[in-house]
Amino acid sequence: PVSISMPDLPNVGSLMPGGDEEPEPEGSATPLSGITQAVAADSAEGTGTADAGESLRARIMAQAEQQQAQVETKAAAEAAAAAEKKAAEAAAKAEKEAEEKAAAAKKKAEEEAAKKAEAERLAKLAKQFTLPTSSYTISSTFNQAGSLWASGHHTGLDFAAPTGTLLKAVHSGTITSAGWDGSYGYKTVLTLDDGTELWYAHQSSINVSVGQKVTTGDVIGRVGATGNVTGAHLHLEVHTDGGTGIDPMAWLQSKGLTP
Ligand SMILES: [Zn+2]
Repeated sequence: PVSISMPDLPNVGSLMPGGDEEPEPEGSATPLSGITQAVAADSAEGTGTADAGESLRARIMAQAEQQQAQVETKAAAEAAAAAEKKAAEAAAKAEKEAEEKAAAAKKKAEEEAAKKAEAERLAKLAKQFTLPTSSYTISSTFNQAGSLWASGHHTGLDFAAPTGTLLKAVHSGTITSAGWDGSYGYKTVLTLDDGTELWYAHQSSINVSVGQKVTTGDVIGRVGATGNVTGAHLHLEVHTDGGTGIDPMAWLQSKGLTP
């Protein structure tokens, strides 16, 4: 046999940088030995790999239950908040309605009180005022249109009554005019303390004289058909202090009278 003597060559590995160890393959984070140990650990507890899955399942279930519980807690809190809000709104609505009801009742009471006060005021006034004549019918109202009147409109309120019917002072005052006045016929003017003038026209007779003081209900003359008329009646005009004529019906009503 031939003995071949090889020269002492250095190991190939020793020529490579980094020594002769095998480089670790990439992508293997856990050394195989580690996995082996983990499995071994589970095996050591006696549960094995199947029980590890069960444990994971249990953890997931617990987490799901916790999340569900959180959802339920949140829902409950929202429901409670909604209920509280609803209750607060209902309370506010009830309070508002109560306030409105109270305000309406107060307004109604005030209106009734004002109405009563006005009725009492008119009743008291009515005792101080009287209608200018009796046994009459209203034959023409204020501002009524008609060719009979020079202005085209009626300037007073007509009380149709038989000639000779008594005319009375509507209120206390002073006679400021008494005599003939053209189309007005025989006319008397009664001036009240506040300056209001009451004109009595178409009289058949005059019972007072200028400057005479009269009180409510005093007879001042009689109904007639003098001046521009178509029949016997009292033509009553009301003039405010220094002003033009106003509606005698409204004026009499403002004194608590009902012509
Ligand atoms: Zn008239």
